[in-house]
Amino acid sequence: MNIILLGAQGSGKGTLAKRIKADFGLVPISTGDLFRQSIANGQPLGLEAKKYMDRGELVPLDLTLKILTERIKLGDCAKGVILDGFPRSIEQAEALKKVLKIDSVICLELSKEQCMERMLARRICPKCGATYSTLLGDGDTCTKCGVSLVRRDDDNPDAIKTRLEVYEKMTTPLINFYSDRLLKVSADVSPEEVYKPVKDFLSKLGGKK
Ligand code: AMP
Repeated sequence: MNIILLGAQGSGKGTLAKRIKADFGLVPISTGDLFRQSIANGQPLGLEAKKYMDRGELVPLDLTLKILTERIKLGDCAKGVILDGFPRSIEQAEALKKVLKIDSVICLELSKEQCMERMLARRICPKCGATYSTLLGDGDTCTKCGVSLVRRDDDNPDAIKTRLEVYEKMTTPLINFYSDRLLKVSADVSPEEVYKPVKDFLSKLGGKK
């Protein structure tokens, strides 16, 4: 089973993906994380992508498809994947049709103001990429690596504004594109409450481990 998580930045797609992975054995793939790993490894693809990421713009389709398809080819994806942050436009969704059959799409709904607030509060571990939030009272070091947390380069007010505008303009049309297999969930509740309808929905689709 392959699923897509839609939802603006800060709506909690990464947290939801972890829960789905634990219950259904699907592998979360975040194109944003793949780009950040590629940057951290000093790879040319990542360094090219960074120019767009730092401005909050979409990375061109050829680079994005390349990094995604290379990841999907790895053996751990056989049972299915959870795409987080891909597709982000109709163009990407059309390209995805040739790569993967998508069974369902879950859209997390959160107001722009709350997305903005959550992104400004987000901190990440520069070593392992784990995400923390000052809104949740998290400290300033990674509990796994012990290193100081940092802000993501693109979690600054200008880039956040652009990213939310890009989401609205380019990504929200996907809600109609996938209307035949879509579950909409309010993200303005606790992670447990977000997950409950998702778990019921996926269990009915027959994806339970
Ligand atoms: P994210 O971690 O999902 O917020 O993504 C961070 C940044 O990576 C985005 O603002 C884009 O610059 C880039 N990115 C991630 N996924 C995609 C995608 N599907 N298409 C184009 N750019 C992407």
